[in-house]
Amino acid sequence: AKELGRNRSYQYERQLTDSIHSRMSLEQDLRSAMETRQFTLAFQPQFKLGSLQPLRAEALLRWPHPARGMISPLEFIPLAETSGMIIELGYWVLRSACQQFLFWREQGLRLEKIAVNVSPVQINSSFANTVADILQQLNFDPHWLELEVTEGLMMSGTTEVSQQIEQLRALGVEFAIDDFGTGYSSLSKLKSMPVSVLKIDQSFVRDINDDINDFEIVRAIVAMAGSLGLTVVAEGVETAAHESTLQDLGCEWMQGYYYAKPMAADEFYQCYRNTPDA
Ligand code: C2E
Ligand code: CA
Ligand code: CA
Ligand code: CA
Repeated sequence: AKELGRNRSYQYERQLTDSIHSRMSLEQDLRSAMETRQFTLAFQPQFKLGSLQPLRAEALLRWPHPARGMISPLEFIPLAETSGMIIELGYWVLRSACQQFLFWREQGLRLEKIAVNVSPVQINSSFANTVADILQQLNFDPHWLELEVTEGLMMSGTTEVSQQIEQLRALGVEFAIDDFGTGYSSLSKLKSMPVSVLKIDQSFVRDINDDINDFEIVRAIVAMAGSLGLTVVAEGVETAAHESTLQDLGCEWMQGYYYAKPMAADEFYQCYRNTPDA
């Protein structure tokens, strides 16, 4: 038994140093992943209710680590943010997502928008100019781009941030608030936020049929958004029951596993190239 105890504590120490080590080496790996182009994008379609043809898609970053397998963005994005690497990585995501969108349109997909996630850390004083440059280099119509930002960023609302956003909106870039409802912003503040799309967080959708509070929150968001002329996208739609309740509440756009998981670009194309319009 004593032997076993010693063994356990050894294992524990070992795990501890492993986890410290792994954090450090993950940051190094992130750097070399940039240089050796290990990142890829997955795309998840968004559907206007009742249509089989997705008109929008969200780009989601993927990191197939050579030794550890797929690492979730929830794990490496925070690391990319604290290390500052998210700036370069974020522009890579933007450029790649826009290029893919252009390619799909050439191939005949009827997509209208590509949505790209933007971390608050990315929005510095050169953000709008750099984005505008990238779009120009690609000959990409800014109206095709939607940038998803966090509710927290909108709430903190420094003039720097709103200037950057306004500059891009003036070009036609659309802004969405991601995970809406989780960031404690009051619905009344919505009126003054420089966005045109709200993405209802999946935590409200999950229990919409079982939890009256979630149901009421979604109802309030959809109603308020409607009166302000904002587009609402429900995230995390996983079942027909989710869809039907969201439809009853007047939500028009859907994204979730019920329709499709995020897919590699090729798979996305194969899936939707022959889809009828209606
Ligand atoms: P998000 O922007 O809220 O993206 C939606 C997440 O929900 C994605 O996870 C997606 O795969 C997942 N999802 C989609 N439909 C369903 C569903 O029906 N049920 C459930 N349970 N989940 C669903 P993913 O791809 O792991 O991304 C996680 C988060 O990482 C994203 O959340 C976003 O905050 C961040 N992220 C991903 N790509 C980027 C990026 O390029 N830049 C930045 N800054 N953040 C990113
Ligand atoms: Ca998002
Ligand atoms: Ca979200
Ligand atoms: Ca999220």
